[in-house]
Amino acid sequence: MSASKRQQSIRLKSPAEIEAMRRAGRIVHAALDAAEAACVPGATALDVDAAANSVIIQSGGTSLFKGYAGADAGQSGADGRPGEGFPGHVCVSVNEAVVHGVPGSRVLQDGDVVTVDCGVRLDGWCGDAARTIRVGRVPPDADAMIRCAQRVLAAAIEMMRPGRAWSEIGRRMQAEASEPGFGVVQEYVGHGIGRSLHEPPQTPAFSSASFERERDFTLRPGMVLAVEPMLTLGEPQTRVLDDGWSVVTVDGRLACHVEHTVAVTRNGADVLTDGR
Ligand code: MG
Ligand code: MG
Repeated sequence: MSASKRQQSIRLKSPAEIEAMRRAGRIVHAALDAAEAACVPGATALDVDAAANSVIIQSGGTSLFKGYAGADAGQSGADGRPGEGFPGHVCVSVNEAVVHGVPGSRVLQDGDVVTVDCGVRLDGWCGDAARTIRVGRVPPDADAMIRCAQRVLAAAIEMMRPGRAWSEIGRRMQAEASEPGFGVVQEYVGHGIGRSLHEPPQTPAFSSASFERERDFTLRPGMVLAVEPMLTLGEPQTRVLDDGWSVVTVDGRLACHVEHTVAVTRNGADVLTDGR
């Protein structure tokens, strides 16, 4: 696809549409607050899922993840039955899990790091955000990784403005994470978002020669992008567990993932999932 075709495939949103997405984003934020409050030692990942989903339901939204069929249409549910889609209302990824953790009966322990990823649809519009939550007191290196992921996301948002190439932002994200020695997961990336959870373009937390050649794009007002760096304490390589969903680090070391849905405006960036 030529650069101009690629640029045209990105659906721009009007100011009214961006406000509709912010309403979905507010529910995401409130659901993540509830999930965070539920992340206490002794709770299960299913408790965290239920806490988030009750906020989603009470707010009139629907979970975008429950029943999600995945990019791979043949993906199985946690029970192994094909075609049922993702079994949780949110993703709960504990410790070595990076993304797409299936909420189950695992009991959270003091010192765990838990990433909750939440997508909500309201009135046809989507919001998507994630945060890594500390259960009790976490080890210093885990704490440093989480802080770094938050800095990486903040740096990306700070750089988002019309006329800038995404590759420049991706490079900065990668540098911000690599400098203190954290791994940057490359097998899963951010995305455009709107009426669908996943729209063009891809928004990786890194850049590469092939990205710059084949997938780079220039930010324009009205683009709405899910920006989601995933960092690891060790190597960034991942694998998928037998449940067909949960993505974990190959080396078994800790990972974290933070995400916001962000609109590009004439002046810069407008975060739609920060609860404002
Ligand atoms: Mg997400
Ligand atoms: Mg996302």
